[in-house]
Amino acid sequence: MILKGFEDLKEFLSKPRNIVIVGHRNPDGDAMGSTLALSHYFSKKGHQPTVVVPNEYPDFLHWLPGSDATYRFDWQNSQAQKAIKNSDIIFLLDFNALHRVGTDMQNSLEKYENDFAMIDHHQQPDDVKYMYSDTEICSTCQMVYQFIEMNNDLDLIDTAIATCLYTGIMTDTGSFRFRSTTSKTHRIIADLIDKGAQNDKIHNNVYDANSYGRLLLLGQALSNLQILPEYKTAFITLTEAEKKKFDFQKGDTEGVVNYALSLKDIIFAAIFIEDTEQQIIKISFRSKGKFSVNKFARTYFNGGGHDNAAGGRFDGSMEEVTENFKSLLPKYIEELNSSYEA
Ligand code: 5GP
Ligand code: MN
Repeated sequence: MILKGFEDLKEFLSKPRNIVIVGHRNPDGDAMGSTLALSHYFSKKGHQPTVVVPNEYPDFLHWLPGSDATYRFDWQNSQAQKAIKNSDIIFLLDFNALHRVGTDMQNSLEKYENDFAMIDHHQQPDDVKYMYSDTEICSTCQMVYQFIEMNNDLDLIDTAIATCLYTGIMTDTGSFRFRSTTSKTHRIIADLIDKGAQNDKIHNNVYDANSYGRLLLLGQALSNLQILPEYKTAFITLTEAEKKKFDFQKGDTEGVVNYALSLKDIIFAAIFIEDTEQQIIKISFRSKGKFSVNKFARTYFNGGGHDNAAGGRFDGSMEEVTENFKSLLPKYIEELNSSYEA
């Protein structure tokens, strides 16, 4: 755990400030939940917070309280730039390095003259003035709860804050099932329910909001699944043509990689998704046990993340990426076979 400049930050925030709060590109439940929760909290403390979202995020997160008041850096660029320019400090949530917001926004953040504060649970964080980094914590939302706790402000958590925090903890823990889910996580979740988070509605809004197209796309993904039992590995591919065929919307492929990991005896899963707009193959990796997909993604696919959930990218064709991926596995055969004991 790194806690840097906390007392100075507290002092800085003892006066009303203009605060910009940023999450990573392609926001997930934890990025949206944590940025919105922190924004609601700062409003209650008398600050003027603005959440700037790098790009589009899935429909199943648009219901989050405060979502309408955010600026999108890509299509509300002048408002977003203005908020950044007028801010006294920028909070970076749920990411560890500036390039995770995308090139355009990264360029604009690199020119920023005031200080950054980071609250994040990814490995190898960039060094900024104020930092709260802990790779042991399941989600940035849990960290925001603990940040509010460190400020002795748990009483300020209302229904909106509780709802946002619950959402990010739920999505980043795979609904409270990953190893990162601790008794403390459950105690925090219990408190968030007491403070107004409606657990059944949150689960419904996030997980039971599928379009028919999304289910058909999942069907396609599952029929593309390949299993490599000797490496306890399974992977899925989705081409741009397949995405188009089923009317792909942002967020439709979220969680699909977990189906590969749900196979008995599979401990390493990947999904390769063609993205012709960015001209890359976007990759998600998941693992069980000791095999670090963070390390794997960093070493071979320009990415990173956590030990059991990471992502990366590949410049080339679907065929090249899958061949490349398969050619890497023999080197890890022992590690893969001893990674996880059920
Ligand atoms: P997902 O596979 O759900 O997109 O991401 C899983 C985890 O890996 C998340 O914590 C995410 O922040 C991280 N991640 C995904 N893609 C990348 C990437 O391209 N670079 C890095 N450094 N991390 C990534
Ligand atoms: Mn997260």
